[in-house]
Amino acid sequence: SRQFFVGGNFKMNGTIDSIKGIVKHLNEAKVDSNTEVVIAPPALYLPLTREHLRPGIEVAAQNVFDKPNGAFTGEISVEQLRDSNVTWTLLGHSERRVILQESNEFVGRKTKNAIDGGVGVILCCGETLEQREANQTIDVVTAQLKAVAETVKDWSKIVVAYEPVWAIGTGKVATTEQAQEVHAAIRSWMVKELGQGPADKTRIIYGGSVSEKNCKDLAKEKDIDGFLVGGASLKPAFVDIINARA
Ligand code: 13P
Repeated sequence: SRQFFVGGNFKMNGTIDSIKGIVKHLNEAKVDSNTEVVIAPPALYLPLTREHLRPGIEVAAQNVFDKPNGAFTGEISVEQLRDSNVTWTLLGHSERRVILQESNEFVGRKTKNAIDGGVGVILCCGETLEQREANQTIDVVTAQLKAVAETVKDWSKIVVAYEPVWAIGTGKVATTEQAQEVHAAIRSWMVKELGQGPADKTRIIYGGSVSEKNCKDLAKEKDIDGFLVGGASLKPAFVDIINARA
């Protein structure tokens, strides 16, 4: 069975003081030891977070570049993450795909570079409302994943985060049926593209308006292996989401 996985994506929020407060709360909280927990503060605060956070909870970047070093103003490298004991990164978040116009291929290259460099990837995918209404959800999501499968063969350090764009930051969470349907489709795609073993082992987590109120029902679905939490990860209720299966 797959270990439950809960990520907190702080996005472009927080200050030194507020992040220290969140970390202190997590350090003192009773968190289910069966859940893998990873938090992703803004890049500027990664070392501070790693320094204060207790061992056993991991830290993720929100993005990382696809080149090892050099003249790439504003970017950070996989080696710099490892140097700062940052063991995970998000990639392909919809805010980067939509607002910063990252292509599926670019996300594929960055994923390959991170995995090759020994950093785990929380690989985000998901459709817009327009795409859902045009019945393109599964095609869009599998195209996003396929661009990664073309370059990355070993998915043992990838966690897939299904985040429907229309559910992100809107308070409009996907129903358990809507989420399970896409998770199951992703799992079937994995069986075909990666094989039964990797399909059984790879965690598929849900993101988009997850709260302490809706997490328990979502966590009961057979292909929902955890959550990627935005807004609620900045609040004490994040601990209730971590403990959704406890
Ligand atoms: P919200 O939980 O704020 O909807 O954000 C979800 C998300 O984008 C996590 O990456």
